[in-house]
Amino acid sequence: MRIILMGPPGVGKGSEAELLIKSFQIPHISTGDIFRELYKDRTTVGKIAKEYISRGELVPDDITNEIVRHRLSQPDVKKGFLFDGYPRNIEQAKALDEILAKKGCKLDAVINIDAPEEQIVERISGRRVCSTCGAVYHIHSKKPQVEGICDLDGGQLIQRNDDMPETVQRRLRIYKDQTAPVIGYYQEKGAIVYIDGTSTIAHTHAQVMKALGELN
Ligand SMILES: [Zn+2]
Repeated sequence: MRIILMGPPGVGKGSEAELLIKSFQIPHISTGDIFRELYKDRTTVGKIAKEYISRGELVPDDITNEIVRHRLSQPDVKKGFLFDGYPRNIEQAKALDEILAKKGCKLDAVINIDAPEEQIVERISGRRVCSTCGAVYHIHSKKPQVEGICDLDGGQLIQRNDDMPETVQRRLRIYKDQTAPVIGYYQEKGAIVYIDGTSTIAHTHAQVMKALGELN
C-alpha cells in the first residue's frame, strides 16, 4: 500500500500513521527522519540538507526529491510506504509521480484527515504538560486527579507556548497555505480521500481502512 497522509497539526495524523504502518507493515517515511538519518551517514546530500536546516531554511526541492528517490530504492519499501510531511508543494508532488512512474508503480491513496479549525484549537489549547516529567494531560479529555497537578509526581502542569490558541491558529494558517495547492493537485487527479478527524482515533482509523478497502 502506497499512501500519503496529510492533515493539519492536532488532527490525529500521528496516531493514524502508527495504525496504518502496523496494519500494512509498511515503513513510515517523514522527510525529517530521512534528513536525520543522512546526517549520521555524512553523505553529501545529507551534509547539504543539514546546512539548510541549521540555518533554519527549508531544504530545496531538488535535494529533498533526491533524498526521497534514494529512500524509495531501499528494499523495505517493496510492500509500500506511508509518506508524512512530503510532498510539501506541487513541485515535490510532480517529482514523486516521476520517481514512482520510473519504478513502474503509483500511489494507492492520498489521505487527508481534517477537522474544523475551532475544534483543533480547542483540542490543542486544552493540553497541559507536566513541568517535571513531561506527561501530557487535557483539560477535558484527560484530566489529572487534582487540577493543575501531575498524577505521577505532583509536578505543576503548564501550557506550552506551542499549544496557546494564537500559536495554534497561526500554525493552522501556515499549514493551509502550504498544503492547499498539493491537495488541489491530488484532487484533480482524483487521488484524494477525505477523512473526518473530528471523532476518536479508532473511528478515524475505521474510516481510513474502509476508504482504502473501497479503492481496491
Ligand atoms: Zn509529572
